[in-house]
Amino acid sequence: MSAAKHLSKCVLYARNGLRLSPQIRQCQRSLSDGVEAVSKPTSLYDFTDEEQMMKETVARLAAEKIAPLVKKMDEEHKIDQSVLDALFENGLMGMEIESEYGGSGLSFFATMLAVEELAKVDPSVSALVDIHNTLVNSLIKKIGTKEQKEKYLPRLAQNTVGSFCLSEPQSGSDAFSLKTVAKKDGSDYVINGTKMWISNSDVAKFFILMANAKPEAGYKGITCFAVDGDTPGLTVGKKESKLGIRASGTCMVHFDNVRVPESNILGEFGHGYKYAAGFLNEGRIGIGAQMVGLAQGCFDATLPYTLERKQFGQKIYSFQGMQHQIAQVATQIECARLLVYNAARLQEAGKPFIKQASMAKLFASEVATYTAVKCIDWMGGVGFTTDFPQEKYFRDSKIGSIYEGTSNMQLNTIAKLIEKEYS
Ligand SMILES: Cc1cc2nc3c(=O)[nH]c(=O)nc-3n(C[C@H](O)[C@H](O)[C@H](O)COP(=O)(O)OP(=O)(O)OC[C@H]3O[C@@H](n4cnc5c(N)ncnc54)[C@H](O)[C@@H]3O)c2cc1C
Repeated sequence: MSAAKHLSKCVLYARNGLRLSPQIRQCQRSLSDGVEAVSKPTSLYDFTDEEQMMKETVARLAAEKIAPLVKKMDEEHKIDQSVLDALFENGLMGMEIESEYGGSGLSFFATMLAVEELAKVDPSVSALVDIHNTLVNSLIKKIGTKEQKEKYLPRLAQNTVGSFCLSEPQSGSDAFSLKTVAKKDGSDYVINGTKMWISNSDVAKFFILMANAKPEAGYKGITCFAVDGDTPGLTVGKKESKLGIRASGTCMVHFDNVRVPESNILGEFGHGYKYAAGFLNEGRIGIGAQMVGLAQGCFDATLPYTLERKQFGQKIYSFQGMQHQIAQVATQIECARLLVYNAARLQEAGKPFIKQASMAKLFASEVATYTAVKCIDWMGGVGFTTDFPQEKYFRDSKIGSIYEGTSNMQLNTIAKLIEKEYS
Protein backbone atom coordinates (compact mmCIF):
# COMPACT_ATOMS: atom_id res chain seq x y z
CA MET A 1 0.00 0.00 0.00
CA SER A 2 1.33 3.48 -0.82
CA ALA A 3 2.21 5.80 2.07
CA ALA A 4 -0.57 8.18 1.06
CA LYS A 5 -3.21 5.42 0.97
CA HIS A 6 -1.98 4.03 4.26
CA LEU A 7 -2.17 7.46 5.85
CA SER A 8 -5.70 8.15 4.59
CA LYS A 9 -6.80 4.76 5.97
CA CYS A 10 -5.38 5.72 9.38
CA VAL A 11 -7.16 9.06 9.25
CA LEU A 12 -10.40 7.29 8.37
CA TYR A 13 -10.08 4.93 11.35
CA ALA A 14 -9.47 7.87 13.64
CA ARG A 15 -12.45 9.80 12.24
CA ASN A 16 -14.69 6.76 12.75
CA GLY A 17 -13.79 6.65 16.42
CA LEU A 18 -11.47 3.69 16.08
CA ARG A 19 -8.80 5.49 18.03
CA LEU A 20 -7.95 2.56 20.27
CA SER A 21 -8.82 -0.23 17.90
CA PRO A 22 -6.19 -2.73 16.76
CA GLN A 23 -6.35 -1.16 13.31
CA ILE A 24 -5.38 2.30 14.48
CA ARG A 25 -2.71 0.92 16.79
CA GLN A 26 -1.24 -0.92 13.86
CA CYS A 27 -1.35 2.27 11.86
CA GLN A 28 0.41 4.17 14.63
CA ARG A 29 3.04 1.44 14.92
CA SER A 30 3.69 1.28 11.22
CA LEU A 31 3.99 5.04 11.05
CA SER A 32 6.36 5.30 14.01
CA ASP A 33 8.40 2.29 12.85
CA GLY A 34 8.82 4.00 9.54
CA VAL A 35 7.39 0.89 7.83
CA GLU A 36 5.69 3.30 5.49
CA ALA A 37 7.72 6.35 4.63
CA VAL A 38 5.24 9.04 5.70
CA SER A 39 7.40 12.12 6.11
CA LYS A 40 7.04 14.45 9.08
CA PRO A 41 6.54 18.14 8.36
CA THR A 42 9.91 19.82 8.62
CA SER A 43 10.43 23.20 7.03
CA LEU A 44 8.62 25.52 4.66
CA TYR A 45 11.79 25.26 2.61
CA ASP A 46 11.03 21.61 1.81
CA PHE A 47 10.16 21.64 -1.86
CA THR A 48 8.94 18.77 -3.97
CA ASP A 49 11.33 17.68 -6.73
CA GLU A 50 9.03 19.41 -9.20
CA GLU A 51 9.06 22.69 -7.25
CA GLN A 52 12.84 22.57 -6.88
CA MET A 53 13.24 21.93 -10.59
CA MET A 54 10.90 24.81 -11.43
CA LYS A 55 12.80 27.19 -9.14
CA GLU A 56 16.15 26.28 -10.71
CA THR A 57 14.84 26.44 -14.27
CA VAL A 58 13.32 29.88 -13.73
CA ALA A 59 16.50 31.16 -12.03
CA ARG A 60 18.53 30.00 -15.04
CA LEU A 61 16.09 31.51 -17.52
CA ALA A 62 16.05 34.82 -15.64
CA ALA A 63 19.86 34.97 -15.56
CA GLU A 64 20.30 34.09 -19.22
CA LYS A 65 17.36 35.71 -21.02
CA ILE A 66 16.05 38.46 -18.75
CA ALA A 67 18.99 39.92 -16.81
CA PRO A 68 20.78 41.30 -19.91
CA LEU A 69 17.62 43.23 -20.90
CA VAL A 70 16.44 44.62 -17.54
CA LYS A 71 17.86 48.12 -17.91
CA LYS A 72 16.78 48.44 -21.55
CA MET A 73 13.23 47.30 -20.75
CA ASP A 74 13.01 49.75 -17.84
CA GLU A 75 14.18 52.61 -20.06
CA GLU A 76 11.91 51.66 -22.96
CA HIS A 77 8.90 50.99 -20.68
CA LYS A 78 8.30 47.69 -22.40
CA ILE A 79 8.92 43.97 -21.99
CA ASP A 80 11.13 42.74 -24.79
CA GLN A 81 9.48 40.34 -27.24
CA SER A 82 12.32 37.85 -26.73
CA VAL A 83 11.45 37.74 -23.02
CA LEU A 84 7.76 37.19 -23.74
CA ASP A 85 8.69 34.41 -26.18
CA ALA A 86 10.97 32.79 -23.61
CA LEU A 87 8.23 32.91 -20.96
CA PHE A 88 5.80 31.09 -23.25
CA GLU A 89 8.41 28.63 -24.57
CA ASN A 90 9.44 27.66 -21.06
CA GLY A 91 5.90 27.06 -19.80
CA LEU A 92 5.82 30.07 -17.45
CA MET A 93 2.62 31.48 -18.89
CA GLY A 94 0.60 28.35 -18.18
CA MET A 95 2.12 27.12 -14.96
CA GLU A 96 -1.03 25.74 -13.34
CA ILE A 97 -2.86 24.97 -16.58
CA GLU A 98 -3.23 21.24 -17.06
CA SER A 99 -1.09 19.58 -19.74
CA GLU A 100 -4.22 18.59 -21.71
CA TYR A 101 -4.67 22.33 -22.37
CA GLY A 102 -1.00 22.85 -23.21
CA GLY A 103 0.07 24.08 -19.76
CA SER A 104 2.77 22.94 -17.37
CA GLY A 105 0.40 21.36 -14.82
CA LEU A 106 2.34 22.73 -11.86
CA SER A 107 1.17 23.61 -8.38
CA PHE A 108 0.29 27.03 -6.96
CA PHE A 109 3.40 26.85 -4.78
CA ALA A 110 5.60 26.22 -7.81
CA THR A 111 4.05 29.30 -9.41
CA MET A 112 4.94 31.35 -6.34
CA LEU A 113 8.55 30.12 -6.53
CA ALA A 114 8.69 31.14 -10.19
CA VAL A 115 7.29 34.61 -9.41
CA GLU A 116 9.89 35.02 -6.66
CA GLU A 117 12.78 33.92 -8.88
CA LEU A 118 11.73 36.27 -11.68
CA ALA A 119 11.41 39.23 -9.29
CA LYS A 120 14.96 38.71 -8.07
CA VAL A 121 16.02 39.74 -11.57
CA ASP A 122 13.14 41.89 -12.85
CA PRO A 123 9.98 42.69 -10.84
CA SER A 124 8.26 43.88 -14.05
CA VAL A 125 8.55 40.48 -15.71
CA SER A 126 7.50 38.90 -12.43
CA ALA A 127 4.38 41.11 -12.34
CA LEU A 128 3.42 40.11 -15.88
CA VAL A 129 3.80 36.41 -15.13
CA ASP A 130 2.10 36.66 -11.75
CA ILE A 131 -1.00 38.51 -12.96
CA HIS A 132 -1.34 36.34 -16.06
CA ASN A 133 -1.12 33.12 -14.04
CA THR A 134 -2.87 33.95 -10.76
CA LEU A 135 -5.65 36.27 -11.95
CA VAL A 136 -6.31 35.28 -15.56
CA ASN A 137 -5.42 31.61 -16.10
CA SER A 138 -6.50 30.63 -12.64
CA LEU A 139 -9.93 32.19 -13.04
CA ILE A 140 -10.65 30.39 -16.33
CA LYS A 141 -9.22 27.16 -14.93
CA LYS A 142 -11.40 27.27 -11.84
CA ILE A 143 -14.67 28.78 -13.02
CA GLY A 144 -14.63 28.33 -16.80
CA THR A 145 -16.88 25.84 -18.57
CA LYS A 146 -15.28 23.00 -20.54
CA GLU A 147 -15.83 24.99 -23.76
CA GLN A 148 -14.29 28.14 -22.27
CA LYS A 149 -11.28 26.18 -21.02
CA GLU A 150 -10.81 24.54 -24.42
CA LYS A 151 -11.08 27.90 -26.13
CA TYR A 152 -8.88 30.05 -23.89
CA LEU A 153 -6.44 27.95 -21.83
CA PRO A 154 -4.30 26.63 -24.73
CA ARG A 155 -3.88 30.19 -26.05
CA LEU A 156 -3.09 31.61 -22.62
CA ALA A 157 -0.47 28.90 -22.06
CA GLN A 158 1.12 29.20 -25.47
CA ASN A 159 0.93 32.66 -27.01
CA THR A 160 -1.68 35.04 -25.58
CA VAL A 161 -1.07 37.43 -22.68
CA GLY A 162 -4.09 38.13 -20.47
CA SER A 163 -5.18 41.12 -18.36
CA PHE A 164 -7.49 41.37 -15.39
CA CYS A 165 -9.79 44.41 -15.55
CA LEU A 166 -11.38 45.41 -12.26
CA SER A 167 -10.19 48.92 -11.26
CA GLU A 168 -11.70 52.07 -12.73
CA PRO A 169 -10.91 55.78 -12.44
CA GLN A 170 -13.52 56.17 -9.66
CA SER A 171 -13.27 52.75 -8.05
CA GLY A 172 -9.97 51.45 -6.71
CA SER A 173 -10.03 50.20 -3.12
CA ASP A 174 -13.81 50.43 -3.31
CA ALA A 175 -13.67 48.11 -6.30
CA PHE A 176 -17.27 46.94 -6.21
CA SER A 177 -18.61 50.43 -6.84
CA LEU A 178 -17.44 49.98 -10.44
CA LYS A 179 -19.39 51.76 -13.17
CA THR A 180 -18.74 49.62 -16.25
CA VAL A 181 -22.05 48.12 -17.36
CA ALA A 182 -23.01 45.10 -19.43
CA LYS A 183 -26.50 45.43 -20.89
CA LYS A 184 -28.39 42.42 -22.20
CA ASP A 185 -29.29 42.70 -25.89
CA GLY A 186 -30.83 39.53 -27.32
CA SER A 187 -28.37 36.76 -26.60
CA ASP A 188 -25.46 39.24 -26.28
CA TYR A 189 -24.21 41.68 -23.69
CA VAL A 190 -23.13 45.18 -24.71
CA ILE A 191 -20.36 46.54 -22.49
CA ASN A 192 -19.60 50.20 -21.82
CA GLY A 193 -17.07 51.66 -19.43
CA THR A 194 -13.41 52.38 -18.76
CA LYS A 195 -10.97 50.32 -16.77
CA MET A 196 -7.87 51.91 -15.32
CA TRP A 197 -4.41 50.69 -14.30
CA ILE A 198 -4.70 47.48 -16.28
CA SER A 199 -1.41 45.56 -16.13
CA ASN A 200 -0.20 43.72 -19.25
CA SER A 201 -2.84 45.50 -21.35
CA ASP A 202 -0.18 46.90 -23.71
CA VAL A 203 0.54 43.35 -24.90
CA ALA A 204 -2.64 41.50 -23.92
CA LYS A 205 -4.94 39.87 -26.43
CA PHE A 206 -7.38 38.59 -23.83
CA PHE A 207 -9.20 40.39 -21.03
CA ILE A 208 -11.06 39.22 -17.97
CA LEU A 209 -13.56 41.95 -17.25
CA MET A 210 -15.72 42.76 -14.26
CA ALA A 211 -18.84 44.67 -15.33
CA ASN A 212 -22.19 45.26 -13.70
CA ALA A 213 -24.89 43.41 -15.64
CA LYS A 214 -27.65 44.31 -13.15
CA PRO A 215 -26.84 47.71 -11.60
CA GLU A 216 -30.13 47.77 -9.66
CA ALA A 217 -28.78 44.80 -7.65
CA GLY A 218 -25.71 46.80 -6.60
CA TYR A 219 -22.48 44.83 -6.34
CA LYS A 220 -24.49 41.62 -6.70
CA GLY A 221 -24.90 42.52 -10.38
CA ILE A 222 -21.15 42.37 -11.00
CA THR A 223 -20.50 39.69 -13.55
CA CYS A 224 -17.28 38.36 -14.99
CA PHE A 225 -16.78 38.30 -18.77
CA ALA A 226 -14.15 36.89 -21.11
CA VAL A 227 -13.36 39.43 -23.83
CA ASP A 228 -11.06 38.82 -26.78
CA GLY A 229 -8.67 41.68 -27.49
CA ASP A 230 -9.83 42.10 -31.09
CA THR A 231 -13.50 42.60 -30.18
CA PRO A 232 -14.74 45.79 -31.89
CA GLY A 233 -15.06 48.70 -29.44
CA LEU A 234 -12.25 47.53 -27.14
CA THR A 235 -9.31 49.94 -27.17
CA VAL A 236 -6.22 50.19 -25.02
CA GLY A 237 -5.10 53.67 -23.99
CA LYS A 238 -1.58 55.02 -23.67
CA LYS A 239 0.81 53.61 -21.11
CA GLU A 240 0.99 55.28 -17.72
CA SER A 241 4.42 56.75 -17.01
CA LYS A 242 5.25 55.16 -13.69
CA LEU A 243 7.76 55.39 -10.84
CA GLY A 244 8.58 51.68 -10.96
CA ILE A 245 7.90 48.38 -12.73
CA ARG A 246 8.12 50.54 -15.83
CA ALA A 247 8.51 47.67 -18.26
CA SER A 248 5.19 46.29 -17.11
CA GLY A 249 2.62 48.06 -19.28
CA THR A 250 -0.20 49.74 -17.35
CA CYS A 251 -2.95 51.32 -19.46
CA MET A 252 -6.58 52.30 -19.48
CA VAL A 253 -8.84 49.89 -21.34
CA HIS A 254 -11.96 51.37 -22.94
CA PHE A 255 -15.09 49.39 -23.68
CA ASP A 256 -17.28 51.25 -26.12
CA ASN A 257 -20.34 49.21 -27.08
CA VAL A 258 -18.30 46.02 -26.89
CA ARG A 259 -20.61 43.17 -27.80
CA VAL A 260 -19.97 39.69 -26.41
CA PRO A 261 -22.20 36.61 -26.46
CA GLU A 262 -23.80 35.43 -23.24
CA SER A 263 -21.54 32.38 -23.46
CA ASN A 264 -18.64 34.69 -22.55
CA ILE A 265 -19.90 35.01 -18.98
CA LEU A 266 -17.39 33.31 -16.71
CA GLY A 267 -18.91 31.49 -13.77
CA GLU A 268 -22.30 32.53 -12.49
CA PHE A 269 -24.17 35.70 -13.37
CA GLY A 270 -23.82 38.24 -10.53
CA HIS A 271 -20.95 36.38 -8.85
CA GLY A 272 -18.20 38.60 -10.25
CA TYR A 273 -17.58 40.29 -6.90
CA LYS A 274 -17.03 36.90 -5.27
CA TYR A 275 -14.57 35.84 -7.98
CA ALA A 276 -12.71 39.17 -7.88
CA ALA A 277 -12.34 39.00 -4.10
CA GLY A 278 -11.43 35.31 -4.13
CA PHE A 279 -8.84 35.44 -6.88
CA LEU A 280 -7.32 38.64 -5.48
CA ASN A 281 -6.88 36.85 -2.15
CA GLU A 282 -4.74 34.28 -3.94
CA GLY A 283 -3.10 36.92 -6.12
CA ARG A 284 -1.90 38.71 -2.99
CA ILE A 285 0.32 35.76 -2.17
CA GLY A 286 1.83 36.30 -5.62
CA ILE A 287 2.52 39.96 -4.87
CA GLY A 288 4.12 38.81 -1.60
CA ALA A 289 6.31 36.39 -3.59
CA GLN A 290 7.20 39.18 -5.99
CA MET A 291 8.24 41.45 -3.14
CA VAL A 292 10.30 38.72 -1.44
CA GLY A 293 12.08 38.05 -4.73
CA LEU A 294 12.71 41.78 -5.20
CA ALA A 295 14.15 42.13 -1.69
CA GLN A 296 16.38 39.08 -2.11
CA GLY A 297 17.54 40.19 -5.57
CA CYS A 298 18.48 43.62 -4.23
CA PHE A 299 20.24 42.13 -1.18
CA ASP A 300 22.16 39.68 -3.39
CA ALA A 301 23.23 42.49 -5.70
CA THR A 302 24.50 44.56 -2.76
CA LEU A 303 26.29 42.22 -0.36
CA PRO A 304 29.36 41.58 -2.54
CA TYR A 305 29.97 45.34 -2.64
CA THR A 306 30.02 45.56 1.15
CA LEU A 307 32.64 42.81 1.21
CA GLU A 308 34.84 44.53 -1.38
CA ARG A 309 34.52 48.24 -0.66
CA LYS A 310 37.09 49.48 1.84
CA GLN A 311 36.93 52.54 4.08
CA PHE A 312 39.20 53.31 7.04
CA GLY A 313 41.41 50.49 5.73
CA GLN A 314 38.72 47.83 6.20
CA LYS A 315 35.92 46.32 4.16
CA ILE A 316 32.73 48.15 5.05
CA TYR A 317 31.09 44.82 5.98
CA SER A 318 33.52 44.56 8.92
CA PHE A 319 31.91 47.48 10.78
CA GLN A 320 29.49 46.25 13.39
CA GLY A 321 27.10 49.07 12.51
CA MET A 322 26.88 47.60 9.01
CA GLN A 323 26.71 43.98 10.13
CA HIS A 324 23.78 44.58 12.44
CA GLN A 325 21.80 46.31 9.72
CA ILE A 326 22.58 43.53 7.24
CA ALA A 327 21.55 40.86 9.75
CA GLN A 328 18.33 42.75 10.45
CA VAL A 329 17.39 42.97 6.78
CA ALA A 330 18.27 39.31 6.16
CA THR A 331 15.99 38.36 9.06
CA GLN A 332 13.15 40.44 7.68
CA ILE A 333 13.47 38.89 4.22
CA GLU A 334 13.38 35.45 5.83
CA CYS A 335 10.22 36.36 7.79
CA ALA A 336 8.52 37.72 4.69
CA ARG A 337 9.39 34.62 2.70
CA LEU A 338 8.04 32.31 5.40
CA LEU A 339 4.77 34.28 5.49
CA VAL A 340 4.47 33.94 1.72
CA TYR A 341 5.34 30.24 1.64
CA ASN A 342 2.96 29.51 4.51
CA ALA A 343 0.07 31.34 2.83
CA ALA A 344 0.79 29.48 -0.41
CA ARG A 345 0.89 26.09 1.32
CA LEU A 346 -2.39 26.88 3.13
CA GLN A 347 -4.05 27.89 -0.14
CA GLU A 348 -2.83 24.72 -1.79
CA ALA A 349 -4.10 22.58 1.08
CA GLY A 350 -7.56 24.16 0.83
CA LYS A 351 -7.23 25.65 4.33
CA PRO A 352 -8.19 29.21 5.34
CA PHE A 353 -5.45 31.50 4.08
CA ILE A 354 -6.96 35.00 3.65
CA LYS A 355 -5.45 36.52 6.79
CA GLN A 356 -2.07 34.93 6.06
CA ALA A 357 -2.19 36.12 2.43
CA SER A 358 -2.89 39.71 3.52
CA MET A 359 -0.14 39.54 6.14
CA ALA A 360 2.27 38.14 3.57
CA LYS A 361 1.56 40.91 1.07
CA LEU A 362 1.56 43.67 3.67
CA PHE A 363 4.81 42.60 5.30
CA ALA A 364 6.67 41.53 2.16
CA SER A 365 5.99 44.87 0.49
CA GLU A 366 7.28 46.76 3.55
CA VAL A 367 10.35 44.53 3.67
CA ALA A 368 11.01 45.03 -0.05
CA THR A 369 11.06 48.82 0.27
CA TYR A 370 13.07 48.74 3.50
CA THR A 371 15.60 46.36 1.94
CA ALA A 372 16.01 48.52 -1.16
CA VAL A 373 16.45 51.66 0.99
CA LYS A 374 19.08 49.97 3.17
CA CYS A 375 20.90 48.54 0.13
CA ILE A 376 21.15 52.02 -1.39
CA ASP A 377 22.55 53.26 1.95
CA TRP A 378 25.10 50.43 2.08
CA MET A 379 26.30 51.26 -1.44
CA GLY A 380 26.85 54.92 -0.54
CA GLY A 381 26.91 57.36 -3.49
CA VAL A 382 26.98 54.71 -6.21
CA GLY A 383 23.75 53.24 -4.85
CA PHE A 384 22.09 56.51 -5.80
CA THR A 385 23.07 56.23 -9.46
CA THR A 386 21.35 54.42 -12.29
CA ASP A 387 24.60 52.56 -13.03
CA PHE A 388 23.67 50.14 -10.26
CA PRO A 389 20.42 48.19 -9.85
CA GLN A 390 19.52 49.28 -6.31
CA GLU A 391 17.65 52.43 -7.36
CA LYS A 392 15.46 50.38 -9.71
CA TYR A 393 14.68 47.83 -7.02
CA PHE A 394 13.72 50.77 -4.79
CA ARG A 395 11.39 52.24 -7.44
CA ASP A 396 9.93 48.83 -8.24
CA SER A 397 9.30 48.00 -4.59
CA LYS A 398 6.74 50.77 -4.10
CA ILE A 399 4.03 49.05 -6.10
CA GLY A 400 3.82 46.23 -3.54
CA SER A 401 1.86 48.39 -1.13
CA ILE A 402 -0.57 49.54 -3.82
CA TYR A 403 -1.80 46.96 -6.33
CA GLU A 404 -4.10 44.03 -5.55
CA GLY A 405 -5.26 45.95 -2.48
CA THR A 406 -3.32 48.74 -0.76
CA SER A 407 -1.59 48.13 2.57
CA ASN A 408 -4.49 49.85 4.33
CA MET A 409 -6.87 47.37 2.72
CA GLN A 410 -4.68 44.46 3.87
CA LEU A 411 -4.75 45.89 7.39
CA ASN A 412 -8.55 46.16 7.15
CA THR A 413 -8.80 42.49 6.14
CA ILE A 414 -6.43 41.32 8.87
CA ALA A 415 -8.24 43.39 11.52
CA LYS A 416 -11.66 42.13 10.37
CA LEU A 417 -10.52 38.51 10.69
CA ILE A 418 -8.91 39.12 14.09
CA GLU A 419 -12.18 40.67 15.32
CA LYS A 420 -14.05 37.56 14.12
CA GLU A 421 -11.60 35.27 15.90
CA TYR A 422 -12.00 37.10 19.21
CA SER A 423 -15.73 37.88 19.08
C1 LIG B 1 1.07 49.71 -11.57
C2 LIG B 1 -0.34 49.33 -11.25
C3 LIG B 1 -0.86 48.16 -11.81
C4 LIG B 1 -2.19 47.81 -11.53
N1 LIG B 1 -2.72 46.71 -12.15
C5 LIG B 1 -4.06 46.46 -12.05
C6 LIG B 1 -4.68 45.45 -12.84
O1 LIG B 1 -4.03 44.72 -13.60
N2 LIG B 1 -6.03 45.30 -12.75
C7 LIG B 1 -6.79 46.06 -11.94
O2 LIG B 1 -8.00 45.88 -11.91
N3 LIG B 1 -6.23 47.04 -11.17
C8 LIG B 1 -4.89 47.26 -11.22
N4 LIG B 1 -4.31 48.26 -10.47
C9 LIG B 1 -5.14 49.08 -9.61
C10 LIG B 1 -4.84 48.91 -8.13
O3 LIG B 1 -5.32 47.69 -7.68
C11 LIG B 1 -5.40 50.13 -7.40
O4 LIG B 1 -4.57 51.22 -7.72
C12 LIG B 1 -5.49 49.93 -5.92
O5 LIG B 1 -6.46 48.99 -5.59
C13 LIG B 1 -5.80 51.25 -5.18
O6 LIG B 1 -6.86 51.93 -5.75
P1 LIG B 1 -6.73 53.50 -6.09
O7 LIG B 1 -5.49 53.66 -6.87
O8 LIG B 1 -7.99 53.94 -6.70
O9 LIG B 1 -6.50 54.18 -4.69
P2 LIG B 1 -7.67 54.62 -3.65
O10 LIG B 1 -8.61 53.49 -3.45
O11 LIG B 1 -8.21 55.92 -4.06
O12 LIG B 1 -6.81 54.79 -2.32
C14 LIG B 1 -6.09 55.96 -2.01
C15 LIG B 1 -5.63 55.87 -0.56
O13 LIG B 1 -6.76 55.76 0.31
C16 LIG B 1 -6.64 54.63 1.13
N5 LIG B 1 -7.97 54.05 1.40
C17 LIG B 1 -8.99 53.85 0.55
N6 LIG B 1 -10.01 53.26 1.15
C18 LIG B 1 -9.64 53.05 2.43
C19 LIG B 1 -10.25 52.46 3.58
N7 LIG B 1 -11.47 51.93 3.52
N8 LIG B 1 -9.55 52.43 4.74
C20 LIG B 1 -8.29 52.94 4.81
N9 LIG B 1 -7.67 53.50 3.78
C21 LIG B 1 -8.33 53.55 2.59
C22 LIG B 1 -5.78 53.67 0.34
O14 LIG B 1 -5.15 52.71 1.17
C23 LIG B 1 -4.79 54.61 -0.30
O15 LIG B 1 -3.76 54.89 0.59
C24 LIG B 1 -2.97 48.60 -10.68
C25 LIG B 1 -2.42 49.76 -10.12
C26 LIG B 1 -1.14 50.13 -10.40
C27 LIG B 1 -0.59 51.40 -9.80
